[in-house]
Amino acid sequence: LERTFSIIKPDATARNLTGAVNAVIEKAGLRIVAQKRIQMTRAQAEEFYGVHRERPFFGELVDFMISAPVVVQVLEGENGIARYREVMGATNPENAAEGTIRKLYAKSVGENSVHGSDAPDTAKIEIAQFFAGNEIV
Ligand code: ATP
Ligand code: MG
Repeated sequence: LERTFSIIKPDATARNLTGAVNAVIEKAGLRIVAQKRIQMTRAQAEEFYGVHRERPFFGELVDFMISAPVVVQVLEGENGIARYREVMGATNPENAAEGTIRKLYAKSVGENSVHGSDAPDTAKIEIAQFFAGNEIV
């Protein structure tokens, strides 16, 4: 089993969609092995999306991520990282497949409801940014 890091983003928490997103996650066979609702600080959001620091949308992305609480999660499953990317759908909801979280719920390419790690090394780093080992069960 492989673990991945997930965020239910502010556009989704603001519309009370935490449970709806979790239902899609669980139906897809992924297990929520850690979860908490937090208000991200600007420093946390800038560190988390640091790889995008030079992109034109960075400021907007950080402002969005701190605009309301988020739910951070660790998901576990067979091929968990790739599986969750599938379940999320394409970054731009206009390109997302039917039944994916972003097709169902995302508002735009920026406000796209969920994050999921893109590789084993980033999953490890992202999980460690928000969870202690004993919080993951
Ligand atoms: P995430 O990393 O959040 O799981 P992703 O891996 O599908 O999403 P990335 O290319 O890593 O997509 O972009 C990170 C986030 O930056 C996107 O989820 C989105 O919120 C925001 N973003 C990406 N491209 C744009 C854009 N063109 N305009 C505005 N925001 C964008
Ligand atoms: Mg990404």
